[in-house]
Amino acid sequence: MVLPAGATIGILGGGQLGRMLASAATGLGFDVHIYCPDADCPAGRVAARLWQHGYDDTAALADFARACDVVTVEFENVPVAAADAVISAGTPFHPGPKALAVAQDRATEKKFLQSCGIECAPWVTVDSLDDLASAHRELGPDAILKTRRDGYDGKGQVRLSANSDLSAAWDDVGNHPCVLEGFVPFELEISAIVARRADGAFAGWSPSLNIHETGILRRSVTPAPVDQSVRDDARDLAIRLASALDYVGVLALELFVLPGGDLLANEFAPRVHNSGHWTPEACATGQFETHIRAIAGWPLGDTARLFNAEMVNLLGDEALIDPIELRDGVSLTLYGKREARPGRKMGHTVRRLGPAGD
Ligand code: AMP
Repeated sequence: MVLPAGATIGILGGGQLGRMLASAATGLGFDVHIYCPDADCPAGRVAARLWQHGYDDTAALADFARACDVVTVEFENVPVAAADAVISAGTPFHPGPKALAVAQDRATEKKFLQSCGIECAPWVTVDSLDDLASAHRELGPDAILKTRRDGYDGKGQVRLSANSDLSAAWDDVGNHPCVLEGFVPFELEISAIVARRADGAFAGWSPSLNIHETGILRRSVTPAPVDQSVRDDARDLAIRLASALDYVGVLALELFVLPGGDLLANEFAPRVHNSGHWTPEACATGQFETHIRAIAGWPLGDTARLFNAEMVNLLGDEALIDPIELRDGVSLTLYGKREARPGRKMGHTVRRLGPAGD
């Protein structure tokens, strides 16, 4: 199906990713409807219409779906039942409920990645303090306990070492079902972002190096300082994953690079991704526009990089920039969030590092 310009694209979620997707979609001539419980959400303020309802309101979801020609998501924790409500109303939904269900549970996600031949750190499920003790004996002493659901930006995670108090760690994750992962002595973290269309056509961007601080992405630099063969491997793994999910849209696969260049998958995001925020400025076509093109059945566009770039997240008060101080070669995107809480992603900059190349 090829959507005509002027059709309506629905987005579940109203955060900054929705805002940037909506801006890209309007640039291609689409109308955008945002579905989000928050009346003042960043995406709602750039859209033709905001549907302010809960994700459990199946009647409102059905009305929203009928008002849209295609529906997509801007965050992965959209309840699968909400996706099902959209599909039941007869509206195409991308990337599809399966990708959401797999990405929402770390154990299901790791099993799926491994079933595609994509390796992960050693891991086991943990449902009790006893499980944690035996898992720690098996995989420790250095390991990370992560809640299976609802963790993001390092939340719902506890780092364990030889002398860790396992009972305190189990309390810290709220006694929720978890996975324990062996700690990976990685050299670098990179992400491969690819787009897939329903007919199997692909596009992708050069993987970026991702630098985290206290579990939150701080900077992404492209190209990642790894051999071209490692970049190619990363991209191939992301394409393999997208194919296995019969995925439509943009997907990001986060990977650890081991000394020697082997790759282990950390997790994937069934959506546009923070580590791809440099792509709109630094590439002929960025991740937001490409996602919209993919779900609309349009040609994916040219994703060639025009220059090497560094993306820096602006957290909390860092976004209170005097525009007068903006330097040439640095572009600024602000998300329109009303309150600058510490650690909250408020915007980002993209800096030109030099001509496209290694
Ligand atoms: P996550 O929420 O799973 O993306 O984890 C947040 C960050 O914690 C990652 O980007 C890594 O920097 C670090 N991390 C997560 N899992 C591991 C692991 N198994 N070994 C080493 N570092 C990890």
